[in-house]
Amino acid sequence: RQKHYQELRDEPSETKDGVHIDMMMNAGLAVDLPQLAQSGADGIGLFRTELQFMVAAAFPRVEAQERLYREVLDAADGKPVTFRTIDIGGDKVLPYFKDSHNEENPALGWRAIRLTLDRPGLLRTQIRALLKAAGGRELRMMLPMVTEVAEVRQARAVIDREVRHLSRFAHHLPTRLKLGAMIEVPSLLWQLDELMQAVDFVSVGSNDLFQFVTATDRGNTRIADRFDPLSVPFLRLLRQIVKAGEASGTPVTLCGELAGRSVSAMALLGIGYRSISMAPAAIGPVKAMLRELPLHELSALMEEALAKHSASTDIRALLRQFAESR
Ligand code: PEP
Ligand code: MG
Repeated sequence: RQKHYQELRDEPSETKDGVHIDMMMNAGLAVDLPQLAQSGADGIGLFRTELQFMVAAAFPRVEAQERLYREVLDAADGKPVTFRTIDIGGDKVLPYFKDSHNEENPALGWRAIRLTLDRPGLLRTQIRALLKAAGGRELRMMLPMVTEVAEVRQARAVIDREVRHLSRFAHHLPTRLKLGAMIEVPSLLWQLDELMQAVDFVSVGSNDLFQFVTATDRGNTRIADRFDPLSVPFLRLLRQIVKAGEASGTPVTLCGELAGRSVSAMALLGIGYRSISMAPAAIGPVKAMLRELPLHELSALMEEALAKHSASTDIRALLRQFAESR
C-alpha cells in the first residue's frame, strides 16, 4: 500500500475523467516540511502559525517568526503556501499568555482574529515577519474565525500599514499579497457575497464550522460521532459556499479533517470542491481514490441526493455503493 502511494506521488492529481484537483497539505512546524516533497502535495493549504507559539516558552520574537516563515517558503520552493495568522485561544492555550485564561466557553471566546485585533501588537509583529520572509515572493495570509466582514477590513488596514512601514524603510516586499478568510463561523454564510468581495480566497475550516453548526464540541468524545458531517444539511451548506465562490470567481478550499478521509473527500469533490488541504499522510490515499473517480457521474448523483426532500438520506451508504459499483 505504502509503496503504491509513493508511486502515485508524481502522478497527476486528476480524476478518472480528467478533472484536476489541487491536493494541498496542512502543516505547522519546520519538522513537517520534508513531507511536502514526500507526499507530492501541490502546496501548503494551511500553515498553522500558532504551533510555533504553542511549543515556545514565551511569545516568539519577530526574528524567530521570520526565520520559520522563510524556511517554509524556501522548502515550498515556489509552491503556494497559505499562512494562517495565529489561531490561539479556544482549544489552543498559551500557558504564558495569562490574559486568555478562564473563559466559560473558550471555543466561543476571545480567540483567533478576535484576540489579534484586540492586541494589534501581536498581529503587527506577525505580519511584519511574514512580509519580510516573503520578500520577492508571493505571500498568502489567511484569517481564522472571522465572524463578520468588518474584521477582514480591520486586518487589512493593519497589513496595509505594515506594508507602508516596510516600504518606507526600503525593505524587499512580497511580489504579491493575497488575503483570505477561513469560513468556520456560521454567521459568514449569510454574508458570503460581501465576504468574497473583501478577500482574495476563502478556506472552509470544516472542524470548527461543523462544531458551530451542530453545536457539538469538537473535542468531546462522548458526542464526537453523534452527528455526521456527511449529512445532507451539512453538505448542502458546504455546497452553498463552493457555489458562492464560483459565482464571484473567488477560489475556495477546504482544510478541515474532512478533506483527509477518502469517503468524505469524495463527497467534497462531488459537491464541487476542486482544492482540498489535509494532513500529509492522507495525500496518498485520497489521491488513489480520486484517480479512480468518475467525477461527473458522482456530481450528478450528489446533486440529486442533496436536492431530494429528505435530509436523512444516508450519504455514506450512497457513496460506498457508488465506489463499489465502479
Ligand atoms: C478547522 O477548524 O477546520 C481548521 C482547519 O482549523 P483548526 O483545526 O486548526 O481549528
Ligand atoms: Mg478552526
